[in-house]
Amino acid sequence: MFCNKCASRIPDGSVFCPECGQKLTSEQPLGQNAPLRQPPTVPPTRASAPVPSAYDPLTAPLSTASFFWMPVIVAIPIVGLIVLLVWAFSKNTNVNRKHYARSVLIWVLISVILGVLVSILGGNLLGSLQGALGSR
Ligand SMILES: [Zn+2]
Repeated sequence: MFCNKCASRIPDGSVFCPECGQKLTSEQPLGQNAPLRQPPTVPPTRASAPVPSAYDPLTAPLSTASFFWMPVIVAIPIVGLIVLLVWAFSKNTNVNRKHYARSVLIWVLISVILGVLVSILGGNLLGSLQGALGSR
């Protein structure tokens, strides 16, 4: 066989040209085993890239019915909070539902913090108001 680059005669089955060092990958020696086994030429994108058409219930868009009922379920006083925590931290929950639950939990947290702040800062005001109302 001959080198692709410098066209010098080289032994059959060579991986590198002894003259110029050109790697001889395009030449497939017939009837001989290549001394160095080449890695499989399967495109790596096929194995690593996610297939966009595959249906995954964890990442699939939620239906209108799901979006319709989620706030209703969440609005149930104690059950809603438990459901929110399960949705927010369970690994087997649809990502849309998970993100929705987390956003609602953030609102719950903000409400609690604001409620505590108001009760601390406005406690005297409310207390005096209630006292005024109670003494009437
Ligand atoms: Zn060469």
